[in-house]
Amino acid sequence: MTYRAPLIDMLLSLHHGAGLLAAAEAGHYNDYDADMTAAVIEEAGRFAADRLAPLNRVGDQTGVTLADGHVTTPPGWADAYRTWAEAGWNGISSPESFGGQGLPLAVHAICNEIWSAANISFGLCPLLTSGAIEALAAHGSEALRTRYLPHLVAGTWTGTMQLTEPQAGSDVGALRTRAEKQPDGSYRLFGSKIFITYGDHDMTENIVHLVLARLPGAPAGTRGITLFLVPKFLVNEDGSLGARNDIVASGIEHKLGMHASPTCTMSLGDHGGAVGYLIGEENKGMACMFTMMNQARLNVGIEGVGIADRAFQQALAYAQERKQGRAVGKGGEGSDPIIVHPDVKRNLLLMRSMTAAARTICYATAVAIDLSHGAVDEKVRAAAHARAALLTPLAKAFSTDIANEVAALGVQVHGGMGFIEETGAAQYVRDARILTIYEGTNGIQSIDLVMRKLGADKGAALRDLLDELSGIVAKVEASNDPAFGATGAVLREALGAVTRASEWLLEKIVSAPNDALAGATPYLRLLSTATGGCLLAREALAARDDDAFRDQAAGHVLLTRFFAENLAVQAQALERSVTGGADSINNADAALT
Ligand SMILES: Cc1cc2nc3c(=O)[nH]c(=O)nc-3n(C[C@H](O)[C@H](O)[C@H](O)COP(=O)(O)OP(=O)(O)OC[C@H]3O[C@@H](n4cnc5c(N)ncnc54)[C@H](O)[C@@H]3O)c2cc1C
Repeated sequence: MTYRAPLIDMLLSLHHGAGLLAAAEAGHYNDYDADMTAAVIEEAGRFAADRLAPLNRVGDQTGVTLADGHVTTPPGWADAYRTWAEAGWNGISSPESFGGQGLPLAVHAICNEIWSAANISFGLCPLLTSGAIEALAAHGSEALRTRYLPHLVAGTWTGTMQLTEPQAGSDVGALRTRAEKQPDGSYRLFGSKIFITYGDHDMTENIVHLVLARLPGAPAGTRGITLFLVPKFLVNEDGSLGARNDIVASGIEHKLGMHASPTCTMSLGDHGGAVGYLIGEENKGMACMFTMMNQARLNVGIEGVGIADRAFQQALAYAQERKQGRAVGKGGEGSDPIIVHPDVKRNLLLMRSMTAAARTICYATAVAIDLSHGAVDEKVRAAAHARAALLTPLAKAFSTDIANEVAALGVQVHGGMGFIEETGAAQYVRDARILTIYEGTNGIQSIDLVMRKLGADKGAALRDLLDELSGIVAKVEASNDPAFGATGAVLREALGAVTRASEWLLEKIVSAPNDALAGATPYLRLLSTATGGCLLAREALAARDDDAFRDQAAGHVLLTRFFAENLAVQAQALERSVTGGADSINNADAALT
């Protein structure tokens, strides 16, 4: 089954759930052009359906191969990539000064969802390039930016991010790859990296590796890490490609999913040292990486939304066709499509509503990132920066957690056929599994949320968010619309649960950090559920007043109500897990012998 981008859902989520139109009307979103957004994502949807979705299966089945340091991507991959890059998709939100189109990141986020839904292994490559562009644009010297950015923005060269080593995963500060300064100001790098996505491939003539390494005598841990640009092929003064650099893919992993995305072991410096160029300052590499972390983590969350939506589309179509059993009370001969059965409906509604909630959280994060860079008013920029920082772990972890749940439900809706590879439902389960692990595991996201995002400003950014969400709930309550069912009351209770759990955590962060850490994961789920439910309600309310979405309004109210009455009702249980679960974890070592 092919993929159809849910354009109208995406626009409703972006314009109202994520608050883009309100920000634009307040003058914070320069020259925002809604018609342009609609046209861009429609075209992206067409490209994805025509060119990328048909390659998803062949990529899964064929995978990639490595011979003599060269990775070969599946049949059709390189051609599709070139067509995609030539159409200008790579640089749609990149600076116009480097050949990009300067569109909002929020529009780029929708396109990324589309590429991920159509073909997640394909879509991952440009996500890495985006990270490289961002780090280089923010921290690279003028010379490096001039030489490398136009190619990265055009997509004629791709980028990688190289942090991980066998002993340095979540603990990046443990990395050992070393760098030595040369008399000409460049560096030579020696070491080995593992799990490097698209570390080599045959889609472009050059690859720009961003590598974290350690200089002699550097402080231990993350304070002694430096970021380097290490090209696959060195670039001559005139911009032409020169000698092969001493960085090669020495192995590729055999994985549960994402078979078409090469995951490479990289060897640096086996033949005299890989030539690298400093990005930013020595020993400040982590700061450079943090610049791009919000966007990179958001992008992984977006991958989750994309694959969840694809799994939902396929499950819905299957449930409308597959006939088993009779609808209760119908009587007579024959059988009905399984979608008539309440349990199947429940599964489909879970899939759709969780995906919609994750989408609106991701788009809200993208809007906050846009505003944090582009709003004219400095106060708006600062508030947006804090909002983006707070929402980023939710965007990453909630969206990828639900992606796994949604993909698994998709298999369930298919029954036995879901377990058979031909239907494609199983591939989504396999492909989605990595999303909770890379770009900072979801456990690490929860810790980031509680210890840094909540702790750093003593809950100020959270209070700002809760005020906004409370305003949405007040509107649902004021609407007195029976179609919303218990939505207003449930969401009000959920916000209360968030407030109490947050206060408890803020105290424990100081007095008993292990107790706060033990509750981090349920807290992320609690905050995500409350936030997602309220933003869905905002969409539902706004759809009624906006001609562009009026046809969607009734369906969206139902979806919001389902989410509130079936998922947001879990808020109190999650609160109890946060505030009451620590002892049962921190004193349970005897249960883990
Ligand atoms: C397919 C794939 C692609 C990847 N692509 C890239 C890439 O392009 N570039 C790159 O640099 N890396 C990449 N990675 C690496 C990825 O980012 C790491 O696997 C990830 O950060 C986790 O590190 P780890 O595997 O060493 O797990 P570990 O750090 O060993 O973690 C194991 C478990 O312990 C938990 N844990 C660890 N430390 C803590 C802590 N302090 N508190 C609580 N829990 C903790 C984790 O949440 C996890 O559940 C990729 C990995 C894969 C599998």
